[in-house]
Amino acid sequence: MPTAVTSASDLAIAGYVPLSTIDWPGALCASVFLQGCPWSCVYCQNTELMDPRANGQVAWEDVRAFLERRRGLLDGVVFSGGEATRQPALVPAIQEVRELGFRIGLHTAGAYPARFADVVSDVDWVGLDIKASATGYRPIIGVDAGAKAWQCLDLLLADVARRRTTNQPLTYEVRTTVFPGSTVARELPDIISALRERGVENFALQEARERGTSPQFQEQAREWDLPAWRHTWEGLVAQVEQAGFTTAVIRPA
Ligand code: SF4
Repeated sequence: MPTAVTSASDLAIAGYVPLSTIDWPGALCASVFLQGCPWSCVYCQNTELMDPRANGQVAWEDVRAFLERRRGLLDGVVFSGGEATRQPALVPAIQEVRELGFRIGLHTAGAYPARFADVVSDVDWVGLDIKASATGYRPIIGVDAGAKAWQCLDLLLADVARRRTTNQPLTYEVRTTVFPGSTVARELPDIISALRERGVENFALQEARERGTSPQFQEQAREWDLPAWRHTWEGLVAQVEQAGFTTAVIRPA
């Protein structure tokens, strides 16, 4: 039976941002948002990008034509989502963008370790969400899939080590998001310990934002005891700052 060949043209693309200074810290980039995610994070701000059956809104050929006009004007291109590693066509898309001369950034929550392994050696910067401890994902994403994300973390760190002395080093940021009453806020010390044991050097603590989230999350937010949360948040920030990361970024809501 002939093997189906995937091309970048098969990507379901929800949209792209021509210029971003925040999607890849320290870089001027264009960001491509891929449709579909297997998870349902309670604080997802891209709920319209979750549906994996939804059609793309932008053709790959249009994104590629745009990038050809931006050669030399951008540091790189970030593939984001949704879950960017969901679609097999990410692999040829990354190769095409590299061939155009761009560096590659990737946002992922680590839902597809095999595809992550396929692309990581062609990526220059990764923003990896570690949403909870390996056993603590269900309250956040709706299923017990944390082992996949932590497997991606191990793949990431192995490639970081392998490329440390090459002329194409891999840089990264591991991010964890908390919010009032979240199980993640309670288990953050364990998460930090597990990250440090693995040698994670660059970490960001993020406070969930309400804007763009589901009506259920916004309703839940109306019940939050914000003065108590500010106290908790300051404690979490102190834990991160004292954990020994080389880079510790704090992103309040
Ligand atoms: S992994 Fe990202 S895109 Fe998917 S549901 Fe969670 S926050 Fe939304």
